[in-house]
Amino acid sequence: MAISKILVANRGEIARRVFRTCREMGISSVALYSDPDAGEPHSREADEAVRLPGAKPADTYLNIPAILQAASDSGADALHPGYGFLAENAVFAQAVIEAGLIWIGPPPRAINVMGSKIESKSLMRRAGVPVVPSIELAGLSAPKSAALSLGFPVVVKASAGGGGKGMRVVADSDELNDSIEAARREAVGAFGDGTVFLEKYLASPRHVEIQVFADNHGNVVSLFERECSIQRRHQKIIEESPSPGIDDSLRREMGEAAVAAARTVDYVGAGTVEFLVEDTNFYFLEMNTRLQVEHPVTEMVTGLDLVRLQIEVAEGAPLSPHALRPTTTGHAIEARLYAEDPHNDFLPVSGHIHRFGFEPREGLRIDSGVEDGSNVSVHYDPMLAKIIAYAPSRAEAVASLASALRSAHVHGSTTNRDLLVRVLESRDFVDGNTDTSFLDHHDITALSAPLLDHDEETRAAIAVALADRSLRRAGAVVQKTVPPGWRNSPSQAQRSVYRGPTGEHQIDYITNEGEIHVLGVPPLQIQLASPDLVEIATEDHSYRFEVARYGGIRYADSLSGSARFELLPRFPETAGHEDRGSLHAPMPGKVIRVDVAVGDSVAVGQPLVVLEAMKMEHTLKAPHAGLVTAVACGPDDQVEADEVLVIVVDDQTAPLPRSDIVSA
Ligand code: ADP
Repeated sequence: MAISKILVANRGEIARRVFRTCREMGISSVALYSDPDAGEPHSREADEAVRLPGAKPADTYLNIPAILQAASDSGADALHPGYGFLAENAVFAQAVIEAGLIWIGPPPRAINVMGSKIESKSLMRRAGVPVVPSIELAGLSAPKSAALSLGFPVVVKASAGGGGKGMRVVADSDELNDSIEAARREAVGAFGDGTVFLEKYLASPRHVEIQVFADNHGNVVSLFERECSIQRRHQKIIEESPSPGIDDSLRREMGEAAVAAARTVDYVGAGTVEFLVEDTNFYFLEMNTRLQVEHPVTEMVTGLDLVRLQIEVAEGAPLSPHALRPTTTGHAIEARLYAEDPHNDFLPVSGHIHRFGFEPREGLRIDSGVEDGSNVSVHYDPMLAKIIAYAPSRAEAVASLASALRSAHVHGSTTNRDLLVRVLESRDFVDGNTDTSFLDHHDITALSAPLLDHDEETRAAIAVALADRSLRRAGAVVQKTVPPGWRNSPSQAQRSVYRGPTGEHQIDYITNEGEIHVLGVPPLQIQLASPDLVEIATEDHSYRFEVARYGGIRYADSLSGSARFELLPRFPETAGHEDRGSLHAPMPGKVIRVDVAVGDSVAVGQPLVVLEAMKMEHTLKAPHAGLVTAVACGPDDQVEADEVLVIVVDDQTAPLPRSDIVSA
């Protein structure tokens, strides 16, 4: 039966993802949105949107009566659950079907069986699919001896578990009882079911899963594997296909096992059979009876649209010929960009996203839930977007993803971006040495260190200081109150101070007839293509920074990474600079004449600059013999008291590398 209107019972990127295919298929779409999601992208991209009052999931995206009412009110004839929320809730699936809607998902019975890790494992064991050794705890009087028979370490798992919740790794028997109790409590809280079991904990397996697809005509296919070994808190953050760790024969075996698993439960639609792989052995972990977060990876290597297939299968059509004879080309890899703090145990971060953008590039796909101006709510998952790169080879796809993340514009939230880049660029990852203990065996602090080192960050701070200056000058031009004859080019040494991720940066610079000298750094060539686009060139490198401002916060984005700065109060030139030979204007006035140039040697008492102030001329004289290393004013310049006019470095001191000259 042809579907004409789909209600998507979800939010964020997956709701947007489903709407996209609806548009392509000419199917109308209905969005649901909670109060915090009002105005967020997913609430605006369907043909209709229905408000679910409230914020908490229980009141909104988990509220079955309200969702069914919305479906009925909007005249939807089908419902897509996305992933998470009610996607694997068999009671909901049944209620949707009983309400006369087409459920775009597997039969409730399959959801039910696979929703229990205990039940699904015993089913798989009976079907001859290898499973991780495990022991049920129900009615067991001596869990310790059971655990000893498995061999420590073991993992206590919630049978209803998902998202890494209700899972405890136990190293030895002393911790066992406490861990069982803790896992039970967590499982009751998260899933309303405290059934837990023990499983042998494999030291460092790969997580490799098979995407399966089944229709109502008896066809079940494997759409190959995704490797998802890079995880934090047992949750995936990087996923790719093909897996760098399995060969064709293992791929075939696992595909056949996954298809067998799906057949055992008369599966229909999209599903994922998850395995742990050790050497050439694989073990069934669980089956997810829904579209997976990481499905784009499969879409990019197979060229199939999995949401379209879901809809076609739900309409009763057989799988398309392409899906029945799937092939893969190239390599796809996805990174999940989260609003979370890797320095603080990956704690989710909520708040406002000022800017969210990626430079377009071939093979790059962004499935995001947010855009400029979005808010990350405390109520929902903090995933901002999935960034997926496709290329002919793994090395190219990995490099492309890393570089897309480096050059991204993500302003307003702490994210795991730097960690993702460092993992992707690490030797072990590039070599395909990926297993689920990757982050445990690498130094998280080093892996999540800012992408720009201190020197690079200083360059970014210089860019910010000069962009800020350029903005002030642009503002000054339109100030009608500036008296004629005043130069709009301040010639005093100016200081901007910023606090960045690696520390504080004090940027001192002087301008002279449109030229900028940044003090205290090796020579730089500086160009401002626009007030917010600064190019800084050293002798052998050039760097381009895009500067953005939000109140007292600055972001400098570059191809190599981004730095967030806090603008600190500026303060006048300090005595420290005078020691280095700075000569200040003694009072406000106008420069009449400059008698020296950079590079001149001067004698003590030699006139340097003549200033007119209070109708009188004042001559600034060299306080000591030395070399003129900077002239920061020109004839007719109006200067303020205390502005640096000339720098004369003492003969005894070697001239400091001061700056280089450039046009602003
Ligand atoms: P959930 O359903 O909560 O996602 P899973 O059972 O799918 O939990 O496991 C999630 C992750 O936890 C796996 O990908 C793997 O990294 C780790 N894990 C789970 N069970 C084991 C095990 N027996 N041995 C080693 N790692 C495991």
